[in-house]
Amino acid sequence: MTIAAIILLLAALAIGAHLLLQRRRRARLLAAPLSAANKAILVKRVPLYEKLPENLRPRLEGLVNRFLDEVTFYGAKGVEITDDIRVTIAAQASFLIVNKPNRWFHTLRTIHIYPAAFKSKLTEIKDHVHSERDQARTGESWAKGPVILAWDHAAFGAVAPHDGHNVVMHEFAHQLDEQTGATDGSPLLDADHSASRWARVFQDAYERLREHASFGRETVMDYYGATNPAEFFAVVTEVFFERPRALRAEEPALYAELVQYYRLDPAAWR
Ligand SMILES: [Zn+2]
Repeated sequence: MTIAAIILLLAALAIGAHLLLQRRRRARLLAAPLSAANKAILVKRVPLYEKLPENLRPRLEGLVNRFLDEVTFYGAKGVEITDDIRVTIAAQASFLIVNKPNRWFHTLRTIHIYPAAFKSKLTEIKDHVHSERDQARTGESWAKGPVILAWDHAAFGAVAPHDGHNVVMHEFAHQLDEQTGATDGSPLLDADHSASRWARVFQDAYERLREHASFGRETVMDYYGATNPAEFFAVVTEVFFERPRALRAEEPALYAELVQYYRLDPAAWR
């Protein structure tokens, strides 16, 4: 065996050992309940947790454990990162994948927390002229990159679980959508999920929201969802978890697609 071959073999062994240890660590975290302190934060700050069917609660706690282990939080503009912040955000994000086997926010490494709405550059193209202006944002999700959140909105979104607005779920719906390589409202579907039906139902419901928005008609969905299909998916995700019965009444076919996608039926939660 040449020296090069020995080095290659040792490198392969080291990578194999690392992956094995990582898999064991994850399995341990996913199977463990939250610490008493983190559980108290969860119960106090994320009341939707107690609506979750009992068999899914340990899974949510395991996902929060993994989240806290693998995702790094950074505070911006003087925010000091606390367990309150980390658990509240990790738990809301974990609802989206709590019943999806092997799903994870694969490209997410960091979350940046601002105290309140923050300014972001918005690029506009009008008559072939690019212009930039500052826009106030409460959250952002970057493709293959971080999620940025305003803590006041993220916290309020959790303690008000029935107003149909949840900035954390919104941004993490974008994270799921991005996993196909394109943020376009067509997330990765399970093998048993008809892509053509999903596309048809989503397009129909999206067109209806655009029409409602143009006529100023009342709907369970925020008009922001009429911006483009990616925002539509993020907005309907918020409503799916926070006003599921109203969404089911207004858009039954869309609701059924989301039930199949998230493998959850929040309208049936007590
Ligand atoms: Zn969005």
